[in-house]
Amino acid sequence: MRKVLAIVAHDAKKEEMVQLVKAHKKELSKIDLFATRSTGQLVQAKAKLPVTLLQSGPLGGDQQIGAMIASDQVDAVIFLRDPLTSHPHEPDVSALLRLCDVHNIPLATNLASAEAILHLMAEHPEALARHPIKQFAINKE
Ligand code: PGA
Repeated sequence: MRKVLAIVAHDAKKEEMVQLVKAHKKELSKIDLFATRSTGQLVQAKAKLPVTLLQSGPLGGDQQIGAMIASDQVDAVIFLRDPLTSHPHEPDVSALLRLCDVHNIPLATNLASAEAILHLMAEHPEALARHPIKQFAINKE
C-alpha cells in the first residue's frame, strides 16, 4: 500500500517546503501527497509532483487533514510552521497537531524533523505502520 504524506507550510515557510520536496522528489514520487491548497499548488508547479489539493489552511484545510488522520488515512505529516507570526486559524493548527498525537502519527514541524521523516519513509517504510501502538499491543499477546 502506498504511503500517504500530508504537507502544509505557512507562507513564510513555503519556499522551504518547495526546496524540501524538490530535494526528495524521487522518494516522494512513490508516496501519495495531500496538501493544503496554496502549499500544494506551489509544490505541483515548482516540483512537478502530483498533489491532492485540500482547502487552503485558513479555510479549513488543516481540519481536513485532521479528519483524514482520524479516519486512519495518513501515515505522516510535515507541517512547516512559521513560529514568528500569529495566524487567524491557530486553533485549527493546534487541533491538527493534537490529532497527530492522539493517533500517534509522525509529525514534523521543522526542516530537520521533516528530513528525518522522509528518510524513514524511504528507507524503512515499515516503521511508519499506522497505529504502531495497537500493533505493539497485538504483538505482545
Ligand atoms: P495554505 O495553508 O497551504 O493554503 O497556504 C497553509 C496554512 O496556513 O495552514
